[in-house]
Amino acid sequence: MAIKTAQEYRQRVAKLRPKLFLGGKRVEKLSDHPVTRGVVDATALVYDLTIDPRYADIMTAKSHLTGETISRALHIHQSNEDLFKRLEMARLSSQKLGTCNYRCPGNEMLPSLAATTWEIDRDRGTVYHRRFNDYLRYAQENDLVVSGSVTDPKGDRSKRPLQQDPDMYVHVVEKLTDGIIVSGAKQHTTGAYAADENLILPGISSRKQEEDYAVAFAVPNGTPGVTYIAQYNAYSVERECENDPRTLGNPIYGQRETCLIVFDRVFVPWERVFMCGEVEYTQKFITRFAKTHRMNCGGACKVGFMDLIIGAAVLMAEYNGLAKAPHIVQKTTRMLQLNDTSLACAIAAAHFGSEDPPGSGVYMPDETMGNIAKLNTNDGFWEVMALAGDIAGGIVATMPSEKELENPETREYVAKYLKAAVPAKERMRIARFLQNWVAGLHGVGTFQGSGPSQSEYVSIYRVADLEGKKKMALDLAKTA
Ligand SMILES: Cc1cc2nc3c(=O)[nH]c(=O)nc-3n(C[C@H](O)[C@H](O)[C@H](O)COP(=O)(O)OP(=O)(O)OC[C@H]3O[C@@H](n4cnc5c(N)ncnc54)[C@H](O)[C@@H]3O)c2cc1C
Repeated sequence: MAIKTAQEYRQRVAKLRPKLFLGGKRVEKLSDHPVTRGVVDATALVYDLTIDPRYADIMTAKSHLTGETISRALHIHQSNEDLFKRLEMARLSSQKLGTCNYRCPGNEMLPSLAATTWEIDRDRGTVYHRRFNDYLRYAQENDLVVSGSVTDPKGDRSKRPLQQDPDMYVHVVEKLTDGIIVSGAKQHTTGAYAADENLILPGISSRKQEEDYAVAFAVPNGTPGVTYIAQYNAYSVERECENDPRTLGNPIYGQRETCLIVFDRVFVPWERVFMCGEVEYTQKFITRFAKTHRMNCGGACKVGFMDLIIGAAVLMAEYNGLAKAPHIVQKTTRMLQLNDTSLACAIAAAHFGSEDPPGSGVYMPDETMGNIAKLNTNDGFWEVMALAGDIAGGIVATMPSEKELENPETREYVAKYLKAAVPAKERMRIARFLQNWVAGLHGVGTFQGSGPSQSEYVSIYRVADLEGKKKMALDLAKTA
């Protein structure tokens, strides 16, 4: 059976031994640590959603390799309908988790790999596509979690890889008969330490002389030479200090957890190398990954997050006795407009998507619409955060702990002065939930994740048919 259960995933995680550091200390067991446990629990929920018959249409697909039913997290889009279901998976999992579906970034690399390895083999007679299909079949049959890394540390952004410390971009340092040795690092990788496999794609469009940087490969979690250094912030400290869900904004699943992955002379067998030196194709890898990622991450995943923010803001308005106040209704409608505009662009990206490259069998979202979905979200998410904070009131920033409701010296005061149209406890719980969204990491996380606005502007301008628009204008102007 190609679909595994949450329990089977947890059993695999129990055997994982990533060399992982968090807050300056080694993490031994992912399921025991209060921060990394959230990643495991979130991923386990994705497995639960996958076997839930209510979501089967969204969460599963038919493998084009084996014909078996598989998790959509390991599927290669074969049609526009597949693209649409993929974005629905992102939206659904965000609504259910309030954090990352940690199977997403890896999943978004798989179609890019399928399409681009096919193209390199067609043009160059290489065997990357056969290797990739063998790897994909292995991942599908075992229903593995695959993380996706494209973002290099980059160092001085004004310099190319060969003009600075060469490890600022992942690259090949040695070629052997049975594989390659790679060094460098990837930054911000979502959930990589709790994944079975780590997929690595080039993060820069390589040029001649930069062949060593044109490398795509996969390694299993725990491969010698790989070190994971987890993100660490106020929310990490909060989870380390508190096991009490009343003090946490997203009690079970927590923040979106990422890490720096360091590759210190890591051996990768040829069977797991999907590009090595073909600089002309690095841009294609990146562009195809970005097409899928921006449709899903920008126009669907964050739409699921905004659904949660809007829901919590409306609850706060009701709890404050203001649900029908005209400006609250107007601000709520504005939040809906921003959210649904992003979703509409993502749906358009799926609808106008096409086989890319022709003959490969792989469908990719429309580049313009996917980028616009992400761009709208970059702007809209900030505004939704601001409106939710406006509606909810200062309590989102200033509230005391819910534990005061059990403190004999304060409980009566807190119950009395924090109640509104509902008891204090209900109001405080939703205020804490909202605090997690509007006063935390999600603003920058949403803006930067899958690329800041400038990346989308560049893509949109690059593919725009400005000549066609100029001609339309000229044709009409001449007629007049
Ligand atoms: C929550 C979260 C999850 C993420 N998950 C993943 C993941 O799973 N896998 C993955 O690979 N990546 C992931 N990312 C990385 C994400 O794609 C990057 O953060 C994003 O692409 C920006 O890169 P950066 O952070 O290095 O910022 P920078 O590239 O340093 O960008 C900062 C600013 O500098 C500008 N800039 C950068 N370079 C130049 C230049 N040469 N010239 C002019 N301006 C420039 C940018 O436009 C931007 O305004 C994640 C990020 C976040 C925040």
